[in-house]
Amino acid sequence: MDKMETLQTWGRALLDFVYPPHCAICEADIEAAELLCKSCWAEIGSHRSHPQTEGGSHAFEKVVALGPFTGALQQAIYALKFRNQVRLGRALGERMGQCLAEQLAPLDCLLPVPLHPARLRERGFNQSAEIAAGLGAVLGVPVCHRLVRRRRNTRQQALLSAAERRANLRGAFALMAAPPASTRIGIVDDVWTTGETMTACAQAVGGDRLWAVVLARSGAGDLLT
Ligand SMILES: [Zn+2]
Repeated sequence: MDKMETLQTWGRALLDFVYPPHCAICEADIEAAELLCKSCWAEIGSHRSHPQTEGGSHAFEKVVALGPFTGALQQAIYALKFRNQVRLGRALGERMGQCLAEQLAPLDCLLPVPLHPARLRERGFNQSAEIAAGLGAVLGVPVCHRLVRRRRNTRQQALLSAAERRANLRGAFALMAAPPASTRIGIVDDVWTTGETMTACAQAVGGDRLWAVVLARSGAGDLLT
């Protein structure tokens, strides 16, 4: 453990003492390392026998989600993205890996949807990369961060019409290095809504062995970017 880590661990212990940790969703008291309470974790994992898997869109062989974008899973994703609960991203990725290990076994590597560097600086982290890190650790699958980069800083998708969204995403991603032809890649994001952002990323990668792997699948029309 280096000095910085020691300091962080010490700092966290002090914070836990002053502000006892509570579930990021329902505020129940918890052990610090758990982030969410047992019942919220149970609800998030409750779709494991019926994952939201279906035949893909034109860009994907399959779209796999841990569950629908409702309830505790939706609240957890809001906490991750809008309340900066970074550690929750990795924990949710780990949970998805545990719940869907069998379904996700065919994947050779994971590609988190990249954020534009300006957006990354603004937010401080890429939620997709956090999810992919947790998922990759549990599945024993590498995360290929440098396969694709975000060329343009696209505007908030939710505020645009369908035609505007497509125009906005055109050429937004650029392939940095072509993966071997037989590689089955799971493109990772937090929520599948219209799938347009993930599809644009998939089109930059190319090939016919791409899966969309998301925490939650939302009905079209829900507003979240
Ligand atoms: Zn809870």
